[in-house]
Amino acid sequence: MRLLLVEDEPQMADALATALHRFDIIVDHAPTLAYAREAIAQSLHDIILLDLQLPDGDGLAFLTHLRGTRDTTPVIVLTARGSIEDRVNGLDVGADDYLTKPFAVEELLARIRAVMRRPAKVVPMVARVGRLEFSLDNREARIDGTLLDLPRRELLVLETLVRRQGRTVLRSVLEEAVYTFDDEIQSNALDSHISRLRRKLMDAEAEVEIHGIRGVGYLIRPAL
Ligand code: CA
Repeated sequence: MRLLLVEDEPQMADALATALHRFDIIVDHAPTLAYAREAIAQSLHDIILLDLQLPDGDGLAFLTHLRGTRDTTPVIVLTARGSIEDRVNGLDVGADDYLTKPFAVEELLARIRAVMRRPAKVVPMVARVGRLEFSLDNREARIDGTLLDLPRRELLVLETLVRRQGRTVLRSVLEEAVYTFDDEIQSNALDSHISRLRRKLMDAEAEVEIHGIRGVGYLIRPAL
């Protein structure tokens, strides 16, 4: 399990990371919302632990934005704010659970297990970019209801870009999504997938653009 811990207090973060490591949980630590955005863009997490008062902003605003991008990664809010209003606000904007500091690590672990046991969200997960609709449940790309027939690797590239739309996805992340360890990756294979995708999306009038940043990665966004 890979967990993103968004927490600015170093002692709290260290104590939690140490405790979670003992349960074989990989912990990515983000001391600010800026780090958290970066971490989310770089890899997928099974769960996010989110402090609310962070040096560069409010965790609830961050969570609202995250849910707005249709990211359904489970989020447990960790905060010193314990009022009913804060709890309700947190749950309303898409937190899966709420834990008031101070708490015992055992309780946190129990809540992580509970959140992970919940069935996947039943709402249809469709991401939209331009006229493109991408179903994250069954990995289908459609334009005005018409299925775009794409080979598996192009679908995986497209899904990875769409999940992070508007943000740059590193080449290494895209390659990781598309290839397994025993695949031999040609250095320009990713670029070939992208150029075929671009052509097909353009032919289908998807009104999206896949923008490349040389040597860094790609991002997808609505065409201007
Ligand atoms: Ca804090």
